Amino acid sequence: MDISQIKATLDFIEKEVKYPDIITIQGASTNPIIKVKDKDVLIFCSNNYLSVAADPRIKASVIEAVNVYGMGSGGSRLISGNIDIQEKLERKIADFKGAEDAIIFATGYMTNTGVIPALLEPPVSSVVSYLKSKTFFRDKSAVFSDELNHASIVDGIRLSRADKFIYKHKDVNHLEKLLKSARRYKNKLIITDGVFSMDGDVAPLKKIVELAEKYNAMVMVDDAHATGIIGKNGSGTSEYFDLGHHPKIIIMGTFTKVFGGTGGFIAGPKDLIKYLRVTARTYVFSAPIPPAISAGIITAIDIVKNEPERRTKLWENVRYLQKKLAENNYNTLDSETQICPIFIGDEKKAIEVSRKLLESGIFISCVRWPAVNHGESRLRLTLMADHTKEQINRLIQSLNTVRKECNF
Ligand code: PMP
Repeated sequence: MDISQIKATLDFIEKEVKYPDIITIQGASTNPIIKVKDKDVLIFCSNNYLSVAADPRIKASVIEAVNVYGMGSGGSRLISGNIDIQEKLERKIADFKGAEDAIIFATGYMTNTGVIPALLEPPVSSVVSYLKSKTFFRDKSAVFSDELNHASIVDGIRLSRADKFIYKHKDVNHLEKLLKSARRYKNKLIITDGVFSMDGDVAPLKKIVELAEKYNAMVMVDDAHATGIIGKNGSGTSEYFDLGHHPKIIIMGTFTKVFGGTGGFIAGPKDLIKYLRVTARTYVFSAPIPPAISAGIITAIDIVKNEPERRTKLWENVRYLQKKLAENNYNTLDSETQICPIFIGDEKKAIEVSRKLLESGIFISCVRWPAVNHGESRLRLTLMADHTKEQINRLIQSLNTVRKECNF
């Protein structure tokens, strides 16, 4: 594309699709009240679900680590070595997930785009020629993916050369049909979000694992929005379904949501982690989470683990919001968690609603294609432990006013 083609495409986006509004937040973005254009605004679209991101203990550990380590990592780990605090973070998240070991990546997106191809076909040529001589990698692999999986999963699958089978959202009968039709593949991987990022519903992991056992597949669960939230101790989707350390399950997660930092991880058996350290290209060829952020996340994991009252408070908020939205007849799809979509449908209307809410002092971004299908635009409302009932009441009042004005 030359610059005139880029300009023409941008003009089209401005006119027909509308370029997304991206607001500037003055200062911290993670408290319920933020500042926009010098005015206080209530935010209902942060992923800081347990309100830990700005905790003074985290700030202190980041500052202390900056004084010791400086800012960056110095390079990728295979070239520049491991930094002790990054190894400590891997141990910490492995313990949090009750796994044998863990590996960290610079982002959650890079975790999925590196790990999925590595699980479907190892991208190291000498290993490939060895494995091609073995039955399990002689043929192509098959990957089974929920149609609403996160974009990073979609892109991880695109980067692999596996044959792909997309099953209808949470439809285990459809998944079984596809698995049946793909019996010839020796290496099969089913991938699902644990809590779906745009719908807030929970994957039927127990049934998926039963199918994985029946058809000899592995299951990878993206627990980005489930970690710290669901399960008795907030460990995530496996704990929620009482599946323990099921040998068929590979757990992926991010530090971007509940832990208030940045980065992603895989937690699992030590041989899996050892394998990923030489086959996941986004690990091999990219620098890891910087040391100071690693220090902050370690403190965040302790807070999430030792202060379960935060989870209790978040769930109280979830139930209160769900009740209020139901009383006012909003369509929240099948949301079961802290991610609560308000379905609007039409893209332009969703943009208008989001803009009017901001004028009234409420920030909820509208989500539209390509994050969701065309015609399925919505407000993606998320809750934090620190939201108060009064703030939720204010949200409902503003929503009701804007609904009258925009007729949705
Ligand atoms: N998986 C899911 C389900 C997500 O929602 C996201 C981010 N929104 C990611 C992966 C990517 O995580 P990160 O922002 O850490 O790159």
